[in-house]
Amino acid sequence: MSWYRDLHGTIDDPDGTGPVDDDGYRPTIGGLRHRTRYAVPPPDGTVVRTACELTWKKNSAPKSPPVADCEACET
Ligand SMILES: [Zn+2]
Repeated sequence: MSWYRDLHGTIDDPDGTGPVDDDGYRPTIGGLRHRTRYAVPPPDGTVVRTACELTWKKNSAPKSPPVADCEACET
């Protein structure tokens, strides 16, 4: 998985794996499980951008389990 979305919101997907790749780090934010470009969880303090344009600073605080997948990240 090597796609990512640049600052202009354009997906750069050089190897064609695309944001529909099911692998990788998928943080739960606001009860929804999002997609990211990370294959493994990044270090705490990393600002993560999800496929649906959320930016979120990773931390190791306890999380509630996800209630659903983020629909915006799935499209
Ligand atoms: Zn999302």
